[in-house]
Amino acid sequence: CGIVGYIGTQTAVNILIEGLERLEYRGYDSAGIATVTEEKIESVRAKGKLFNLKEKLENHSNFSRLGIGHTRWATHGKPEEHNAHPHLDNQQRIAVVQNGIIENYQTLRDQLKEKGYQFYSETDTEVIPILIADILKDLPGDDPDKALLEAIGKAVHQLEGAFAIAVLDAHCPEQLIVARQQAPLILGFGQGEFFCASDVTALVPHTNTVLSLENGEIARLTPLGVEVYDFQLKRLRKLPRTLDWSA
Ligand code: GLU
Repeated sequence: CGIVGYIGTQTAVNILIEGLERLEYRGYDSAGIATVTEEKIESVRAKGKLFNLKEKLENHSNFSRLGIGHTRWATHGKPEEHNAHPHLDNQQRIAVVQNGIIENYQTLRDQLKEKGYQFYSETDTEVIPILIADILKDLPGDDPDKALLEAIGKAVHQLEGAFAIAVLDAHCPEQLIVARQQAPLILGFGQGEFFCASDVTALVPHTNTVLSLENGEIARLTPLGVEVYDFQLKRLRKLPRTLDWSA
């Protein structure tokens, strides 16, 4: 029931965990994070409280500066580790966290299974990374950053329901993409670092410069800045606003 994402100059894992702790009040039954290092996704998930996830991360050194995190409130599939987010595609290239419900997931799942893809969870969410990867394989591979944005632009058109997603691609270590349709997602602007979260509480320690994504918008976060697009991938002109926490 909570999303956090980070790209920038600091170690992502610490920021993700701290952000998830600040979203704990929303309720959850499991949690997980994914980061990108040397063209590989590293994903760690745990059932129950964040304490369990932190314990798993203890003997890990992970200095990735890009990552996504999630606390899950199960809607489709039991609250078990294999259903916890992030979910990955079959090549383990794309990692996705989602808040909300993909209403037409069964149809998409059947279509993707027919194409030969395997599913490892009972969630509605797992169709998203697999769908993105399936679209990506037919796009030119010379510019992975551009291809990922294009694939997500195509994928969101096939998703029905209320959702907010954050997506990593192992081939794009400088890019985090998020999209929103009827579920909240806030972007945070720092110095050479950018954040996303399902609510502003998670951003408070880092920045007071924020932008609420609107329905039908996709944002591309890089260490250099944030670009916002509509679902047709037309670039939108958006300016963040500065909140006064003390007020
Ligand atoms: N529907 C998704 C699931 O059950 C996401 C739930 C949430 O928002 O945490 O995995």
